Amino acid sequence: MELDELLKKFREYSSQDTTLLEYAWNYSCEAHQEQKRASGEKYFVHCAAVAEILVDYKMDLETVAAGLLHDVLEDTKIPHETFKKEFGDEIYTLVSGVTKIETLKFSSRDEAQAENWRKMILATAKDIRVIVIKLADRLHNMRTLNFLTREKQLEISHETISLYAPLAQRLGIFQLKSQLEDLSFKYLHPDEYQSLLAKVQLRYAMREKLLEDFRTELEKHLGGANVPHRVLSRAKNLYSIYRKMLRQDKPFEEIQDALGVRVITDTVINCYALLGVVHSVFKPVAGSFTDYIAVPKMNLYQSLHTSVMAASGEIIEIQIRTEDMHRTSEYGIAAHWRYKLGEKGADKHLDEKLNWLRQWMEWLQDLSSPREFIESFKTDLELDQIFIFTPKGDVKPLPVDATPLDFAYTIHTDIGNTCIGAKVNNKMVRLDHELKSGDMCEIITRRNSVPKKDWLTSVKTAGARSHIRKYLREHGQALE
Ligand code: MN
Repeated sequence: MELDELLKKFREYSSQDTTLLEYAWNYSCEAHQEQKRASGEKYFVHCAAVAEILVDYKMDLETVAAGLLHDVLEDTKIPHETFKKEFGDEIYTLVSGVTKIETLKFSSRDEAQAENWRKMILATAKDIRVIVIKLADRLHNMRTLNFLTREKQLEISHETISLYAPLAQRLGIFQLKSQLEDLSFKYLHPDEYQSLLAKVQLRYAMREKLLEDFRTELEKHLGGANVPHRVLSRAKNLYSIYRKMLRQDKPFEEIQDALGVRVITDTVINCYALLGVVHSVFKPVAGSFTDYIAVPKMNLYQSLHTSVMAASGEIIEIQIRTEDMHRTSEYGIAAHWRYKLGEKGADKHLDEKLNWLRQWMEWLQDLSSPREFIESFKTDLELDQIFIFTPKGDVKPLPVDATPLDFAYTIHTDIGNTCIGAKVNNKMVRLDHELKSGDMCEIITRRNSVPKKDWLTSVKTAGARSHIRKYLREHGQALE
């Protein structure tokens, strides 16, 4: 990737002045000059590749510039203050956000822990663009994983599949999610990956003819109608097929995987016009039609869905949507971001609108039921959460102002009850010390120690308070 290419690609969708990109390109190239990647390439190749991915997702100028610079604070000696003066608050916030996430080391195999981590990453990032940069960074690292040791490959793939792919899914960036999943799958289960890849390729080769017939038929009937359209076959996500095989405990041959196509057109009216043509040519399968244009999904997904019978008797699933809807479904929040930042008539109050909470609320994804929706809404609205590490590296969410005593009780009632002291980041602290997000807290206990009455003023969580009260009551201590 050369600078000229990057600028050319960027200008295809944006009219923002590109001076900043040129400057960031040269600055980063210079800053990383001495470094090399595991592949032996210059380190800067990675920075340019991350910027290219961001341009593919049509991200705004600041995000692409921050992509070029994303490892400068982490990997070079340039002080934060110097960098901030050089590039201003916005770019600094983006880059330091990515750097912060970089320092979090995830190793747990526990799904509940992974969920806490995802929340922590979202809370740490504050600006959703930080996550998009981090995801682009991870995608390029996954693409070049073959240069690392097997041990590193497993570690990074595990982290990618349990943390980053679900994050991409949450943000609705399905294209990125599938890529991250399939790359991780390749390293985590190499044999299964290769065998499935071969089978999927074979199945799709046989179906190509069928798809071609369908297109020809469709074109024939659309011939007269003045409806612009393109037909895409659906991308396959190997890992999701693999998961289906595990879940249903069936071999690939028995996994139902309907032939699917997407028809993309320009306007909503033309979506319905195309639907009319499709239904007049092919027999629709009863009950298969769903109108997600009139009634969008919670995550703003829009499309017309129908299934029809091809001449051969095979069922074909068809999704009809506009270019805009297509972009939203593939790029999720990234598409949305650009849409909002559309430089023509850009909104002056954009900053307020783009705060991460709103984005997050709009983009609650992968939630299948309203109950789940409300649950997740609740937890994520608690922005007053902090995240505290156990010495083993697990993460516990706690309310702001929580103390080591609260932390002790979230681990176990007995740990709370017998607590005699606490260390935060390896230093002894008082039991009413105020914890901060990212602190590592270690609780010191003594076997026969018991809760004290004045603890009631040191704890902030209802859970800890009720455990202390319960103990005092049961041991005959007056509470007031
Ligand atoms: Mn990087």
